[in-house]
Amino acid sequence: MSKKVAKKEEPPKAEVKKEEPKKEEVKPQKVEKAAAPKAEKKKKEEKGIHALYKVEGDKVARLRPTCERCGLGYFMADHKDRYTCGHCGFTRYKRT
Ligand SMILES: [Zn+2]
Repeated sequence: MSKKVAKKEEPPKAEVKKEEPKKEEVKPQKVEKAAAPKAEKKKKEEKGIHALYKVEGDKVARLRPTCERCGLGYFMADHKDRYTCGHCGFTRYKRT
């Protein structure tokens, strides 16, 4: 690598800038949207069908009631005050 220090002699530029009258553009003020931080999506815990069964010795206990319309195998979702069937929409209110 040979170092070549080449000095370029640049002639002084005679810059004659014409100052143009600046046009003041009236820009509509942008209403900046407040960038709200996106709430992180909570991962819904998928428990799977095995969470609905509980093996007690030789017997299998079902932790959810089954749908009366759809029959066995159709579990009902456990809500605060009711059970609902996701298959047919059957709702059974809990006895309080
Ligand atoms: Zn049902």
